[in-house]
Amino acid sequence: MRPISIFVGALLATTSPAVAQQYDVLIRRGTVYDGSDTPARSADVAIKGDRIVAVGRIPATATAKTTIDAKGKIVAPGFIDPHSHAAPNIQTKQLAAALPMLHQGITTLMVNPDGGGPPDLTQQIIDIKTNVPGVNVIPLIGHNAVREAVMGNVARLATPAEQAKMEGLVTAAMRAGAYGLSDGPFYIPSKYSNTEEIVGLAKAASRFPHAFYTSHIRDEGNYDVGVVAAVDEVIRIAREAKIPGVVTHIKVLGPQVWGKSAEVIDNIDKARAAGVQVWADQYPYAASGSSLMASLVPGWAQEGGAAALVKRLEDPATRAKIRAEMAPNLERRAGPGAIMIRSFAADPSLEGKRLDEIARIQGKDPLDAAIDMLKRGGAPTVSFNMNEKDIEAFMRRPWTMTSTDGGLPVFGLTSEHPRAYGAFPRKLRNYVLDKPVITMQHAIHVATGLPAKVFAIPDRGRLRPGAFADVIVFDPATVRDTATYQKPHAYAVGMDYVFVNGSAALVKGKPVAERHGRVLLRRPPG
Ligand SMILES: [Zn+2]
Repeated sequence: MRPISIFVGALLATTSPAVAQQYDVLIRRGTVYDGSDTPARSADVAIKGDRIVAVGRIPATATAKTTIDAKGKIVAPGFIDPHSHAAPNIQTKQLAAALPMLHQGITTLMVNPDGGGPPDLTQQIIDIKTNVPGVNVIPLIGHNAVREAVMGNVARLATPAEQAKMEGLVTAAMRAGAYGLSDGPFYIPSKYSNTEEIVGLAKAASRFPHAFYTSHIRDEGNYDVGVVAAVDEVIRIAREAKIPGVVTHIKVLGPQVWGKSAEVIDNIDKARAAGVQVWADQYPYAASGSSLMASLVPGWAQEGGAAALVKRLEDPATRAKIRAEMAPNLERRAGPGAIMIRSFAADPSLEGKRLDEIARIQGKDPLDAAIDMLKRGGAPTVSFNMNEKDIEAFMRRPWTMTSTDGGLPVFGLTSEHPRAYGAFPRKLRNYVLDKPVITMQHAIHVATGLPAKVFAIPDRGRLRPGAFADVIVFDPATVRDTATYQKPHAYAVGMDYVFVNGSAALVKGKPVAERHGRVLLRRPPG
């Protein structure tokens, strides 16, 4: 418990003691976790304009335009999602409201993860601003995006001139307001880079204050370098470029590497002890999202992208070579029963089905079924490849934040990964309330105050006077995800109120029409 006197002090500073302050919103008697990794306390939270103006005991005589009785409810800062695939859909009027996120209590998210997004952020920033997002949006600049713009999808190292061009694009994007550099060396074309190339780009980013590097690492399983070496690559980049490094959606992927979380954790702990800034984020599901191409096809055969792959598959000898190399990759992914097709435009009847089932229906070997789908446009997948023990081990670390890795789908369309609708409430329900893997205090801190600190997001992630009023009120008795792998389009429940920049976005669990998010750009631009 904190002494009440500080809050009285804050109140006296803005008003005379005899006259009650008029607030816009007064949230009364909630169980307040302020995001700082300190215990909860019973307190009131007052909002005026877009800011929190008081946290503590606010006199009964105080008045407000809206008063919320939060007794029995938890009041916390809005959640911050450092890995969101909300773009480009959040750039459209139809989806700008970001309802799957608001129902989870997310008030700020970062777009262009995994090295993706546009190589020049100018138009994306304009589009998001024009449509006014329902949540705050932070753009990252992606390595894969700038590599593709400069070099195309070629399987070779960059020349010094190409390296300089890529660094120039990263620098321009950081000047335009990007918060950090995102990467996905698991995916083409960043797959064809070496560590030196990435260190160069990370150094370009690290010339800007509080920049960071976040990576979908080169190998989360045992495809080539292996998950331990791939995490070590992030550590090396962080050390050499003097930049915080984030292992995004940390996991050990596939039964052949289950248990490796211990070694990964040990290496991160040691690096941190040696002063290297290494962090991670995680979504609380045992299945990841990927695509048939990225998860099964060998790297050399992906060169040039999907169209070039189709060409290669038409040549019988090359097809046989690709197929032979896909076989161990399918085993790495725990076999055809562990891969579910998310969407498949060429034959939507296959959406939501697993590869073994599709193979049975078609009377084919699963590898041939997969190759046929690759030839007909490929497909995003849900890949069941994680182990609960590893998930929990990563979750318990003080350096693991929460993320969704979720998209922003049109409600009801395509077979999504349920994390798009449920990641944050699922962590509260499954890993705090039903099974106490971590405490509520920890779960809220790693979703609010910690990411605000790691990513240097000013005045967010905390409930304190002066901070932006991104505030959530939820019921610990009912909060939960309802989206499943079979029925992914289902909003999370239990989030009663969500305020974004001081304005209500969710009231009694229902979204309002107005949108209150902002594009958050780095300040100063550098
Ligand atoms: Zn990823």
